[in-house]
Amino acid sequence: MEQCYCKSGLKFSECCEPVLRVLEVPETALALMRSRYSAYCLGDVNYLQATTHDHTWTDEELKFIQDWADNSFWQHLEIVDSSYDMVEFKAYYIFEGKQHLHHEKSTFLKVNDMWKYVDGEIYEDKVEFLRNSACICGSGQKYKRCCATKISK
Ligand SMILES: [Zn+2]
Ligand SMILES: [Zn+2]
Repeated sequence: MEQCYCKSGLKFSECCEPVLRVLEVPETALALMRSRYSAYCLGDVNYLQATTHDHTWTDEELKFIQDWADNSFWQHLEIVDSSYDMVEFKAYYIFEGKQHLHHEKSTFLKVNDMWKYVDGEIYEDKVEFLRNSACICGSGQKYKRCCATKISK
C-alpha cells in the first residue's frame, strides 16, 4: 500500500486521502497541516485555497502556487512542534535544481468546525546534507545517489 505523502508512516488511504477528498474533516490543526503538505505534493491548489482562512488568492497567486507545487520534488515533512492551534514544521523540497528547506511556525483557526491555515512565521534556515548519509526523502539510498542527482551544479 501507498505510504502517505506527509510521511506520517501511515497509508495514504488512512491518513490524508479521506481529508483531501473531503470525506472527513481533519480533527486537529496538525492533521490539517499534514493534509496541506500532501496537497502540495499532489498539486491540489483548490484544497490549499479552501483551507486558507480569510484570503482569496488572485489568479496570479494561484498560478504561482500551482507552479511551485507541480515543479517541486517534495522530499520530506518533519514536524518540529505542535499545539492546539500551532504547528512548527520543516518541509524539504527541490525546486529549480536547488535544495530548499521551508521552516515555518504556522497558526491555525477553527471556523465552523473546520481547521484553516491563518499565517506563519518563516525561519531562514540553511540546509545541506552529507553526500554519504541516507537521503532525506526516505528512498533508502544515499543522498549522493538520490536527491543530490536532481540538484544542478
Ligand atoms: Zn498524511
Ligand atoms: Zn532522495
